[in-house]
Amino acid sequence: MKIFISADIEGCAAITSWDEVHKGHTEYQEFREQMTSEVIAACEGARAAGATDILIKDAHESGCNLIVSRLPDYARIVRAWSGHPYVMMFGLDRSFDAALFIGYHDAAGSDTNPLAHTMNDRIARLSINGELSSELTVNAYTAAMNSVPPVFLSGDRGICAAAERLVPGMKTIAVSEGFGRATVSIAPTRAVRMIRDGVEEALTRDLSRCALTLPEWFEIVIEFNNASDAYRSSFYPGVEHPKACTLRFVSNDYFEVLRAIRYITV
Ligand SMILES: [Zn+2]
Repeated sequence: MKIFISADIEGCAAITSWDEVHKGHTEYQEFREQMTSEVIAACEGARAAGATDILIKDAHESGCNLIVSRLPDYARIVRAWSGHPYVMMFGLDRSFDAALFIGYHDAAGSDTNPLAHTMNDRIARLSINGELSSELTVNAYTAAMNSVPPVFLSGDRGICAAAERLVPGMKTIAVSEGFGRATVSIAPTRAVRMIRDGVEEALTRDLSRCALTLPEWFEIVIEFNNASDAYRSSFYPGVEHPKACTLRFVSNDYFEVLRAIRYITV
């Protein structure tokens, strides 16, 4: 069994402030270790369920957050950014049996995580076919495009609920919940144990129950915080610019959607 893991940090247990996610801040070290512990827990759960090959995409900021000396010897890792439109899913292809999402966070425009955002802090809201969408939405559809079922997610309570709406069979572990700038979190050590057990359970079940069908048609609406960012990206081929801060892109080809998001949101 071949497993793909996309790992972020803003949905790891107890994380609360931006200083805790940015390299160079003293607070970052503790949460870099927690992100690593949660990813290792996912690897161990996958291994217990029979995984023989695990590819991890380190998918936060620099793409170089996980402490690689701690990774199990049966895992491989993608670090930094290739420039490929798969972005947080780079390395995925049709040969994988399942995709897991660790440390994921709710979308820009939601109120369930003080660190909620989508792609970067210039984007106020991303919607796909009229629904508020997150990095998970974009990445789960990337998995679907490759016929890889998204089977497990850990993160804040809001993104867990969103994941279950998108993929009703998906197993989720909510490690924290945001209230304004505050979070209420389970202990990081407990989160690690629950992720390990949750991944094993998710991969022991019939994976096909998490199969996600790609919509036949995509309408992407991106609202920027600043009109100058919208203007700059409005020259991407096929993009409409209906309002000062808003861009719209329509396609029936999801790779074209990914390519557009990759260039529009930079
Ligand atoms: Zn991140």
